Amino acid sequence: MKEKCLKLKKQYGDKYKNGYPLIVSTMLQNPKSIEEEGEIIALVDCENKFIGRGYLGKQNKGEGWVLTQNESENIDKKFFYNKINKAIKTREKLYKDENTDVFRIFNGEGDGIGGLTIDKFNQYYLINWYSKGIYNFKDMISSVLIELTNCKGVYEKKRFDTNGMVIDDDSFIYGEEAPEPLIVKENGVNFAIYLNDGAMVGVFLDQRDVRKTLRDKYSKGKTVLNTFSYTGAFSVFAAKGGATKTTSVDVANRSISKTRENFSINNINYEDHDIIVEDIFNYFKYASRKEKKFDVVVLDPPSFARSKKFKFSASKNYGDIVKSAIDITVNKGIIVASTNCANFDMKKFKGFIKEAFKEKNKKYEIIEQFQLPSDFKVNENFEEGNYLKVLFLKIM
Ligand code: SAH
Repeated sequence: MKEKCLKLKKQYGDKYKNGYPLIVSTMLQNPKSIEEEGEIIALVDCENKFIGRGYLGKQNKGEGWVLTQNESENIDKKFFYNKINKAIKTREKLYKDENTDVFRIFNGEGDGIGGLTIDKFNQYYLINWYSKGIYNFKDMISSVLIELTNCKGVYEKKRFDTNGMVIDDDSFIYGEEAPEPLIVKENGVNFAIYLNDGAMVGVFLDQRDVRKTLRDKYSKGKTVLNTFSYTGAFSVFAAKGGATKTTSVDVANRSISKTRENFSINNINYEDHDIIVEDIFNYFKYASRKEKKFDVVVLDPPSFARSKKFKFSASKNYGDIVKSAIDITVNKGIIVASTNCANFDMKKFKGFIKEAFKEKNKKYEIIEQFQLPSDFKVNENFEEGNYLKVLFLKIM
């Protein structure tokens, strides 16, 4: 096959030879050759020697992904079959886990195809396409998925229009439609899932190990504040672990019905718990004015948030919410600090936390540390993909 060549600048040859998967225009001598979404290209070094083969697909970062460094390997149905088959095999333990039927079966560049993720929700699968380019391979990829799994139905989300919004909300593409809500379970706890309801289906799967740890080790007999609570996933796990009371705070109205629903499908009376719709920055002020204290405070904000009065960016303001949490956590209490912001690493995150405690004149100990769970496989040559950072901090 004679495909178009993208030629690397001399200083970047080794980076890609060592397996860097993201095609970045500033690292190329001929970035103008980037034209057609989905086009298969060869990446060559400054002496025109083959380094890798990949596809063009514009995402918020990068222009496409390298898929193979084997010059004789073509990007065809067999290629997709091998990658997805291998990904499924490495999740065998999760497939056999009777307490969990919801997890990621394919994680982008971590499983060898940047721009593509696939999640399993009970017997339904959800494909996320992160560029028009990868969407060009839709027929091959979805037919391979159907061949390799005994799925009842397949849904897709196109995450590639300019505003980062999903283009069409009817995302059902194959088989039988899932019930609404679809009840899935994670470590024995149920979640209500809406596969046809925009970009967020009801749960963030990368927090599985964190939720389990919160339930099993830190909830019994405790009061738990869950900030940016969304559908209350952390609250339900805390309640299941024996928390005396949880308080969920989210600015979105939907969080009331969604959190109630998640409590109910786990046989928990939601009236025993507080679910509050409010800007968390107002709530922090209110709680510290009232001298409210919680045993455990969970902080899991989006990377960026804007409300009427406040602007939050994890890389600039994370320390501020840690300081607010310190004010309303009991002595020897626990703050679960989490971020999915890819702009900084664990070391920098720990720095934000250290600084916040220093300003508050408080001591702490890191008692648990999490990054992505094993099904969110990370490509060791692409640290940016290793976005999740979670620390359990015990206030001394
Ligand atoms: N922690 C959640 C996921 C959070 S998603 C979980 O584990 O499932 C981010 C949530 O933050 C959204 O539900 C959004 O409505 C909420 N949010 C954004 N800005 C907020 C603010 N200023 N105050 C409270 N919640 C906010």
